[in-house]
Amino acid sequence: MGECAVGIFQEATNVLEFVPMTHLSRSPQHVCILGAGIVGLATAWRLQRDGHTVTVIDSAHSGAGASAANGAQLSYSYVQPLADPSIWRQLPKLLLANESPLKVRLQMDPHQWAWGLGFLAACRASVSRDTTTRLLHLAAQSRLAFEAMRSETAMDADHSTTGKLVLYPNESSFSAARHQMALQRKLGSEQHALSPAACVAIEPALAHHVSRFHGAVYTPSESAADCFKVCQALEQLLRARGVRFLLDTPVTGLVRLGDRVVEAQTPAGAVHADTFVMALGTGSRHLAASIGLRVPVYPLKGYSITVDLQDVADATSAPAVNVTDAERKIVFARIGQRLRVAGMAELVGEDRRISNDRIAALVSATRDMFPRAATFEHVHPWAGLRPATPKGLPVLGRMPGGPSNLLFNTGHGALGFTLAFGSAEYIAAALRPEIRPFAAELAACSA
Ligand SMILES: Cc1cc2nc3c(=O)[nH]c(=O)nc-3n(C[C@H](O)[C@H](O)[C@H](O)COP(=O)(O)OP(=O)(O)OC[C@H]3O[C@@H](n4cnc5c(N)ncnc54)[C@H](O)[C@@H]3O)c2cc1C
Repeated sequence: MGECAVGIFQEATNVLEFVPMTHLSRSPQHVCILGAGIVGLATAWRLQRDGHTVTVIDSAHSGAGASAANGAQLSYSYVQPLADPSIWRQLPKLLLANESPLKVRLQMDPHQWAWGLGFLAACRASVSRDTTTRLLHLAAQSRLAFEAMRSETAMDADHSTTGKLVLYPNESSFSAARHQMALQRKLGSEQHALSPAACVAIEPALAHHVSRFHGAVYTPSESAADCFKVCQALEQLLRARGVRFLLDTPVTGLVRLGDRVVEAQTPAGAVHADTFVMALGTGSRHLAASIGLRVPVYPLKGYSITVDLQDVADATSAPAVNVTDAERKIVFARIGQRLRVAGMAELVGEDRRISNDRIAALVSATRDMFPRAATFEHVHPWAGLRPATPKGLPVLGRMPGGPSNLLFNTGHGALGFTLAFGSAEYIAAALRPEIRPFAAELAACSA
């Protein structure tokens, strides 16, 4: 099992630099995008601007899947994959501790086993470093493209650039983080190692917690936004620009003739297009399997709560800066007058049920760190499935042996919001005739 490489960014940064509107593709196509999550919608946005006719199909509504209530972080500098050698050290505790953020429910599912083995095989320093480098490039593209979209549309979506503080519980974890920081500095990330007191100076709401962590890494340029609001706003903008949406419409199959997909099948009838983009999140695997393709995406379930802030004006009660508790592996993001708290990773198949225990753990962690942030009387609980690949690289472009007019844009795992707009640039590049040589390289995925 393998993944499409995104390493092309290293050699082809020029191709993936933000392409202004004036450089329209000379051969507009009808592109059918399967999936109206953040990845599908960002792709629709990019392709519509390139002059393509776009249709978007989703079995539910825009932002209904993993994009609905995620951690809200645009985590451009924190892309280190879950598959990391440090996992070997942490694994016994992660698997056995009562309140571990990780849970594995082994199933009679060869795909789960293959994914798990692929994940463990990727937990090597060289692989993790390589993935981090590729994702940092993709994230940098994404930041540019997302900011361009925001300035063109004046979209709000509770966006803020207040930076991120990642808190480490002890010297060993802090030292490993400083080591990673040094690696990332060479790749252009501006980050600072801070004492707890220095963190409180930046984020006064951490005062209550100051004696409970050893140090932190601060990244001033990190952002947050409400991913669902971005999805909804994109749908409105796209409709106004003539994009056709087929919502509440499941795609039940693809019809392949030779090396082309000729139609997407839905209960509302067949949809024909020149090119199809598969952006179905965890649903991508099933649809790809229907035409004999293996997409290495497995659901990695997570949870979030959203709480209304008690006193928005009081800077000492709720964080304005994004905070990650590295020990509990929980992220806190301010979105407007609400706090989004997210975490946990469960390999439990397609189970979408919301566990009361997991929600209680998120509430308890929030009360513990920011006791005056909210009353916690009204908590909005949520569970979602991250479309994860073993290595942590998304599946981008054509698949070997796959139809020539089917592009994949899926498998962004814990970083789909962060990477969506960069991935859309990648798909747009694959459709631009003047950069065909690179489009061919994009296709060089290892199955
Ligand atoms: C708890 C949690 C916290 C997270 N925090 C962050 C974060 O802070 N920052 C970040 O960058 N990322 C985060 N993520 C990851 C991010 O949310 C996902 O990577 C991203 O939402 C994936 O987007 P997508 O468009 O690929 O998939 P989805 O949003 O799942 O969209 C796929 C769409 O396809 C549709 N679909 C599926 N099958 C079919 C079918 N057969 N026919 C028609 N439609 C279909 C679904 O209805 C859905 O709308 C988090 C995820 C979770 C679960």
